[in-house]
Amino acid sequence: MVVVGGGIAGLTAALRVARLGGRVSLLESSTTVGGKLARAELAGLTIDTGAESVLNRRPEAVDLAREVGLGDDLRHPATSAAEVWSRGRLRPLPPTVLGVPSDLAALARSGVLSRAGVVRTGLDRVLPGGAVPADRADDVSVGRYVAGRLGAEVRDRLLEPLLGGIYAGRADHLSLAAAAPQVLALASTGDSLLVAARRSRQQTAAASAPPLFAALVGGMGRLAEAAAAAAVAAGVDVRTGATVRSVSRRAGPGEGWRLLVGRADRPETIDADAVVLATPAAATARLLDELLPSAAYELRGIEYASVALVSLAVPDGGVVRPPRGSGFLVPPVEGRSAKAATWSSAKWAWLGEEAAREHGRGTIVLRVSFGRHGEAKVLQRDDVGLVELAAAELAEAVGLRGPLLDARVDRWGGGLPQYAVGHLGRVARVGRAVAGVDGLEVCGAAYHGVGVPACIADGRAAGDRVWEWLRTRPTAAAGSAGTMPP
Ligand SMILES: Cc1cc2nc3c(=O)[nH]c(=O)nc-3n(C[C@H](O)[C@H](O)[C@H](O)COP(=O)(O)OP(=O)(O)OC[C@H]3O[C@@H](n4cnc5c(N)ncnc54)[C@H](O)[C@@H]3O)c2cc1C
Repeated sequence: MVVVGGGIAGLTAALRVARLGGRVSLLESSTTVGGKLARAELAGLTIDTGAESVLNRRPEAVDLAREVGLGDDLRHPATSAAEVWSRGRLRPLPPTVLGVPSDLAALARSGVLSRAGVVRTGLDRVLPGGAVPADRADDVSVGRYVAGRLGAEVRDRLLEPLLGGIYAGRADHLSLAAAAPQVLALASTGDSLLVAARRSRQQTAAASAPPLFAALVGGMGRLAEAAAAAAVAAGVDVRTGATVRSVSRRAGPGEGWRLLVGRADRPETIDADAVVLATPAAATARLLDELLPSAAYELRGIEYASVALVSLAVPDGGVVRPPRGSGFLVPPVEGRSAKAATWSSAKWAWLGEEAAREHGRGTIVLRVSFGRHGEAKVLQRDDVGLVELAAAELAEAVGLRGPLLDARVDRWGGGLPQYAVGHLGRVARVGRAVAGVDGLEVCGAAYHGVGVPACIADGRAAGDRVWEWLRTRPTAAAGSAGTMPP
């Protein structure tokens, strides 16, 4: 069996099938596995350059961390407070469920919205179930829904920055059902959204509730590294620098699959009895063009947002007014270029301690993110230009001054899929088309959730399905899945 794509979804699928007894090759086009889970060096410290935390209230990521021997290194953020750069300055982020306020008084105190905006938000209490502006019969954009219920300011100053952080997406484009199921769940109660949000927050804030997020000492990227090591130990043949160029049905005895891998002019042939495509939508579409043109067409309809992260190490005293908590979000209506700044050394105690050991107490490690769907212009700046822009906006927001210890820029072109209105229907159509082909599976961020836990769940489910097919197919014995040299 071959898994194409060595991000966390592909690694999980490969590990799963190998542990169940299958022979697996994993082919990854870049020089390292991990995809959007990656680490690098900044000022002598190791930092994440992609995903930096995972939802702790979904089991998959923390379970995988334990399964690959990292359970003792799981940590929770040192603070859950954050700020919003709204109406000209940093203000405390009031409690919300994905942008839906749960406490009107705290919202008013925060100053994030204008007085009129707060009053409009409160109207949802007296107009529960207010008009739902449907874009399509079966779905609606989360932005239009929330603006219809709570007013445009809630959308623009709370929902937008939170969606910008998760999807690098825009509220009026993203699907309520696919991108904001938490908000759909509030809407489905039939209560005022405020009341439903308060009830939900009370449950999640209960002393017995586990912390919302987790990460690993040394960086979340370690999860992919350890999953890859576990896969190799389980017998997976992990190959990097192996771009899969085509996937086709093999004619003749045993049938199965033929993959062309490597250089376009001199590709290597790899045969397999089953294939899992754990690649981003555009790459999967290319690989399915001949075989499943309808699925390829649907996959091409999933747009991606590009993002860039500017990581900075700042010496003690380099920031006059550090934000309270783990950093701040920037709503697009503020007209800034950055969309968020994460105070990594305050959020993760292990990193703060490491920075203090390496460079002295008070050293700050932070990362500024740029790039929203449909707004790639800012990303055309070169690295120096992006660092300058980050520094200029930080100077205004928090009083950054003086020289930096170090800076680096990491770019993720096409980094995050956009779950647009109608996404669930699209994914169901892809799923039906793929299910009709024996020994073929797809998984990854394009389908059922962009977060690391959702990708792990998707990879694991794809691994289970393909193993079930390998085990029960009439021809060959289970476990004979393998690859052939050219
Ligand atoms: C900057 C950034 C920050 C994020 N932060 C978080 C976070 O804090 N928490 C969270 O939960 N989620 C976060 N996410 C989202 C999450 O990290 C990703 O959605 C998830 O890791 C994607 O995993 P994947 O395996 O589906 O895809 P990928 O990680 O994209 O892996 C796909 C792999 O397929 C390979 N590939 C593509 N084409 C081919 C081919 N033809 N042949 C062989 N290989 C191929 C690629 O090189 C890549 O390695 C973040 C995403 C980004 C971009």
